[in-house]
Amino acid sequence: MTITVDGINKRFGKFQALNNVSLNIPEGKLTALLGPSGSGKTTLLRIIAGLESADSGRVSFSGKDVTKLHVRDRNIGFVFQHYALFRHMTVAQNIAFGLDSLPRKQRPSKAEIQKRVGELLEMIQLPHLANRFPAQLSGGQKQRVALARSIATQPKILLLDEPFGALDAKVRKDLRRWLRNLHDEFHFTSIFVTHDQEEALELSDQVVVMSQGNVEQVNEPTELYARPDSRFVFDFLGQVN
Ligand code: ADP
Repeated sequence: MTITVDGINKRFGKFQALNNVSLNIPEGKLTALLGPSGSGKTTLLRIIAGLESADSGRVSFSGKDVTKLHVRDRNIGFVFQHYALFRHMTVAQNIAFGLDSLPRKQRPSKAEIQKRVGELLEMIQLPHLANRFPAQLSGGQKQRVALARSIATQPKILLLDEPFGALDAKVRKDLRRWLRNLHDEFHFTSIFVTHDQEEALELSDQVVVMSQGNVEQVNEPTELYARPDSRFVFDFLGQVN
């Protein structure tokens, strides 16, 4: 699915968080939303997901206007900044959550859900932790569970808000590989938010650079280095790193 964002404006009180943002996210690509803190990345991601509504503008998935569609009906996977696992549910129950919550007509049988959860647990290599609770897991394990949960309903679009922000360097590196492999295996259209330039350049097929509620550049990582105005990107990202 392609994602098209057209003339999105969003204010919080007097503060213009997004300023007439238009953007095309190509199907099957892993796109990084890169920019300093407060540049509007999370707000844009949440508007694409339907977790937040824009003041004006449109969001379409493969040409279909979804602006008014509830998050539940957009069939997207979403991974939050701090895992956001349900504490009172086991790992298996967390992964099953999206499937259990489907309207009855679309909901697989209990046996099918159990099978799907088993496959996802294998995929994230945590089948032995199925009955643990989130508090008993490491940060990296929690984020793998969050990834599995987000794709359980087989969405075409995967959105991730600073997915590795809370993890240490070694785990971050491993999880980047996880995300890249997942993305490549399932051909999602994926967008991840980051303020880490290295992460964006290493992991993505396309980098969208944001600053103060505006999209400043859209480039492939290699082009970002090659462009004559690339200094702009690195100068301004220099403020972050
Ligand atoms: P980023 O993800 O790039 O750090 P955000 O999209 O989170 O940026 O935020 C952009 C700006 O909008 C920030 O200045 C933030 O304080 C403000 N903002 C975001 N969400 C809210 C909210 N719910 N209420 C008020 N201000 C908000």
